[in-house]
Amino acid sequence: MKFSKMVNISPSATLAMNALALQKKAKGVEVHNLTVGEALLDTHPLVIEAAHEAMRKGETHYTEVPGIAPLREACASWINAACGSSFTKENVLVSCGGKSALQMLCHAFIEPGDEAVMIAPYWVSYASMVQMFGGQAVVVDTSESDSWKINPQVLKQSIHNRTKLLFINNAANPTGVLYSKEELREILTIAKEHDLVVISDEVYSGLVYEGEYISCASFAEFKDRVVVVQSVSKHFAMTGWRVGFALGSSEIIKKLSTIQSQSTSGTSSISQWAALAAITHADTIISPIRNELKKRRDIFVETFNSLFDTTVSIPSAGLYCFISMEHFGITHTDSVEFCMSALEQGNVAMVPGVAFGKEGYVRCSFGAPEQDIVRALQSLHKTGYSSVG
Ligand code: PLP
Repeated sequence: MKFSKMVNISPSATLAMNALALQKKAKGVEVHNLTVGEALLDTHPLVIEAAHEAMRKGETHYTEVPGIAPLREACASWINAACGSSFTKENVLVSCGGKSALQMLCHAFIEPGDEAVMIAPYWVSYASMVQMFGGQAVVVDTSESDSWKINPQVLKQSIHNRTKLLFINNAANPTGVLYSKEELREILTIAKEHDLVVISDEVYSGLVYEGEYISCASFAEFKDRVVVVQSVSKHFAMTGWRVGFALGSSEIIKKLSTIQSQSTSGTSSISQWAALAAITHADTIISPIRNELKKRRDIFVETFNSLFDTTVSIPSAGLYCFISMEHFGITHTDSVEFCMSALEQGNVAMVPGVAFGKEGYVRCSFGAPEQDIVRALQSLHKTGYSSVG
């Protein structure tokens, strides 16, 4: 059988490591999973009740393709209140998670031979999504010593005449990096000078523990070229409900809606009503989730530092610690081999840094409950890893 070259892509590394961990678990082995891309917390009862109510009321049919009007309106108001933007319902599309919004954006803009710029370490799916439409990822590297921030001069050099898109992930997976207003303005100005469309993936904006969160939606002067991707997944511990959003110019939203009409037809009606309840009660729901995750982050970092006698950087946002393998005393192997051996010998699953375009690092999630985090780190430590000097 001959598959299209466009799908000659690797499966998501996070999901692949998770699958290996589950296989081990199925054989009866206790596996400590630090790959989870979500807060392991229950969805709020108000949201569950809204889903039941939607089902009882018969909201179980196809919805309007760009999403139900009250949810589009609520999403616009939610983002406007946080960022000072002026979105209306016509600027919002409801998608099957943020992931589908990102994929439709690549579909809308990428033609074979086009380029999309992304900042490494980047979220695992961007490069594959671009590739699926015949495009090419152009990766701009960053380093921990520069706080994982992009150098604007290097960004400029990575833009060529076939460059169409720039991905910004703020707050970032896997590094938790947060960009300031000045930094974002500089990046957006470069994008404007080169006529790029900016995809601003902001799905972690609700999980900020220190510092100010600035959205690309807060710059009125760039609003025609910026599309913000949002989601209820991480803000509200609702990953399984599959509700995300694209917010941008009505022209872009109409195009995405056409793509959605010929692909998924939109996400579950029940999930959309549930997401409406989540957004309506956003302040009540998000703060306890954020507080709990901050606690889990601090436990992760304290336990790691004390077991491995080292000091890892503390992420200001998100769900992950992105850790140099040197903190484990590993300098002689690559991140895939290290993760495989940690799973084999320590029964601990982590995601190799190379999946994020950064060799020499691993990503550990602190989304699991405290006791699971501590046991995972103890198990890794028992395996004999210890920091270099
Ligand atoms: N963007 C980033 C950076 C992510 O980490 C994820 C999920 O892990 C997504 C987008 C997609 O999330 P969802 O499709 O659940 O909204």
